[in-house]
Amino acid sequence: MRYLSQIFQPIITIPKNAKIKNTEITCKSQKLLLECGLVRPTGTGFFSILPLARRSIDKLEVLIRKGIESVGAQNITLPTLTPSSLWEKTGRLGSEAELLTVEDRHEKQYLLAPTYEEAVADLLSDVGPISYKQLPLLLYQISNKFRDEHRPKHGLLRAREFAMMDAYGAHATLACAERAYERISEAYRRIFEELQLQVFRVSAPSGVMGGSVSHEWQLPAAPGEDRLCVCLSCHHASTSEGRCVVCGGETESLGSIEVGHTFILGTKYSDPLKAHFIPPSGPAEPLVMSCYGIGITRLLAASLEALSSDKSLRWPRHIAPYSVLVIGPKEGSKEWSAHGVDSIDRLYRRLSEVPGLTNDILVDDRHTLTIGKRLLMGDKMGFPYIIVCGRSTLDNPPKYEVYKSVPHQQSAPVLLNLEELLIMLTDKVECDNLKILENKN
Ligand SMILES: [Zn+2]
Repeated sequence: MRYLSQIFQPIITIPKNAKIKNTEITCKSQKLLLECGLVRPTGTGFFSILPLARRSIDKLEVLIRKGIESVGAQNITLPTLTPSSLWEKTGRLGSEAELLTVEDRHEKQYLLAPTYEEAVADLLSDVGPISYKQLPLLLYQISNKFRDEHRPKHGLLRAREFAMMDAYGAHATLACAERAYERISEAYRRIFEELQLQVFRVSAPSGVMGGSVSHEWQLPAAPGEDRLCVCLSCHHASTSEGRCVVCGGETESLGSIEVGHTFILGTKYSDPLKAHFIPPSGPAEPLVMSCYGIGITRLLAASLEALSSDKSLRWPRHIAPYSVLVIGPKEGSKEWSAHGVDSIDRLYRRLSEVPGLTNDILVDDRHTLTIGKRLLMGDKMGFPYIIVCGRSTLDNPPKYEVYKSVPHQQSAPVLLNLEELLIMLTDKVECDNLKILENKN
């Protein structure tokens, strides 16, 4: 059984217009994550991720791994430090202003990589030339990346160290790369659907990454530094203002946050780094590469921006730190004698049997606090289901107040006995899972 009183969660109250570690509080995910004791800044643009946020990120990583592995991606780990010489060969060393660099005792230069195109091309070059029979190849990793932001802000949305899923495709031809690109885009769509987030794929310039095709994956949310124009009739999204290029309809302009980026890179990296493959006939040729990123900590913060109110966090259902919070009666009350520790134990065990809820239930055992006070905190934390053992546990059979979290809103309770509660949670969890399966097929 997991008790709330044992969770390391340093809750604080941030006064209006306060600065934390010289950083202004500029958006709600930043404020609420800090206030609820989910993250802790260690300096400008760096954060300690605390247990509840860590659980949420772990869940998000599982979901992203599942999505990207469903299209054949293989998991690898590359060193955090990339030799600067590789970036010199591709011409990116001078053009990226936000690189964090280090030097070892032999005066060899490295960079704390923001992205790994060079490292992957070097790996493929080192083992190559590989046979066309091994293609297409899709390698991915989930690790922390670094960007020495000039002005880190908005908490996890623009941090100097951040968790990211980055995948790299190697292909024999541009046509192969394009086919793989669309398959992986579909995997992205399923990942965002599973999170119940409306993320738009929009054409983007390739910038310093180079290559021929590039899309940004944008989630509309208030503090977004990007602008998104979404057609009111066909929902086509683009970054340029004006009428919809698809149907000519009117568009609305929204602030949005880039949560992913995908590119077909061509031979920009494989050529200078000599990452070659052997075709069915003829001499070795440079691989056609593609790359795919999802900013994991940024996606978490962006989804909180999109779903939360100013006062209360709201999570995509599948990545909330815990799915259910149980609040027992206040010690010494009438309900406490009827529905005390033993009854809460029994309730916990019954709920744990619901498929999908095992090890995903938290019990608020601070029984000296009133139910109201604990409920207020539970609502602020945004647990998808809060089950309160209040006055109605004196009924026969006992009834529970069940609060289901809704984006942007304070939850309203329904009163259910244990059987009804189990049916609701089973249906709900199964219904969610069913939806995921449907989306897969
Ligand atoms: Zn349109």
